[in-house]
Amino acid sequence: MYKQIIKFIKELYKTDNFIALHEPRFRGNEKAYLNECIDSTFVSSVGIFVNKFEEKVAQYTGSKYAIATVNGTSALHISLILANVQKKDEVITQSLSFIATANAISYIGAKPIFLDVDKKTLGLSHQALKKFLEENTYIKKNKCINKKTGKIIKACVPMHTFGHPCKIDKIVQICKDYHIEVVEDAAESLGSYYKGKHTGTFGKVSAISFNGNKIITAGGGGVILTNDKNLAKRAKHLTTTAKIAHPYEYIHDEIAFNYRMPNINAALLLAQFEQLDSFLKEKRILSKKYKQFFKLQNIDFISEKKDCKSNYWLNAIILKNKKQRDLFLKQTNINNIMTRPVWKLLSELDIYKDCQKDKLTNSIFLQDRIVNIPSGVV
Ligand SMILES: *Cc1c(COP(=O)(O)O)cnc(C)c1O
Repeated sequence: MYKQIIKFIKELYKTDNFIALHEPRFRGNEKAYLNECIDSTFVSSVGIFVNKFEEKVAQYTGSKYAIATVNGTSALHISLILANVQKKDEVITQSLSFIATANAISYIGAKPIFLDVDKKTLGLSHQALKKFLEENTYIKKNKCINKKTGKIIKACVPMHTFGHPCKIDKIVQICKDYHIEVVEDAAESLGSYYKGKHTGTFGKVSAISFNGNKIITAGGGGVILTNDKNLAKRAKHLTTTAKIAHPYEYIHDEIAFNYRMPNINAALLLAQFEQLDSFLKEKRILSKKYKQFFKLQNIDFISEKKDCKSNYWLNAIILKNKKQRDLFLKQTNINNIMTRPVWKLLSELDIYKDCQKDKLTNSIFLQDRIVNIPSGVV
């Protein structure tokens, strides 16, 4: 089995050399825009590329406002502040996610609660969410109180895993019933839609990442999406050291952050953005080939679900058990094909093991079986 898979992936990428899990492709105006940016001397936190990019991403996603940041984690951090998450609050998220999701919650001093994911979408399970809230919380003065800790559950952060949309409409409805704000971690899902609407536009506010391994990259970068004009204004203020506009004086009206995306990164990103649709198209072709191949191998390939359009950022398969997974990882990696297991569950890390969680049945099952396979544009 492994020999056939290795042969297939090498043929897909038409190489015997190392095949990465995901690699950026610079085929467009990257060098032209970077040169233009350098020539202008506006390489830092002010410039036309940042503004242009913000306009484009707002237009593309259908979000009213977009605020560019230095990375996806900072976008998530600010998004949680905009959702009014404070120290001592609690925030529900999924255990099966990248560390940044939980860290952004911790930066505020709030505590994550880790719930299970849906076995099909790999995103936060709306059933697990409903069950947890029914059994563990009560509403007092329009606030959702955790019976165990007496603390307020202020927000919920679902994540669209590997670019596959979670059942975000159901999650939003449940959270509404419990007076919980939804902050979408859409870091991986630029170009993914749920019921025809772009991911990251369902919650109050959301974050997308443009790290080097994402579908398009700014080197490092992120963006905050929101439809709320006041939140957008506040996002810009908080990401730019809360400086009051003034011809020369330095007045800052709160303790804030230096999180603005530099113009040089935005120049790269704008060129990448122009190629997004072609990347999406090519990734769709790649995933279709994988899907057909793995079907013959009787291996479960994770594909787009009903009502969803996935960007197929990172392809994944689910193997029969941990032993098979470990063998697969070993065989592919020694053969120059980069494959990786899914993240260790956040609730199992020492830094988060004291956090409240549910049984995480699906998460534990998936943790032992998921493998990500090369997904970069060929
Ligand atoms: C990449 C990623 C982030 C963080 O983005 P950075 O730009 O690397 O800070 C957050 N959440 C998830 C799920 C991610 O995959």
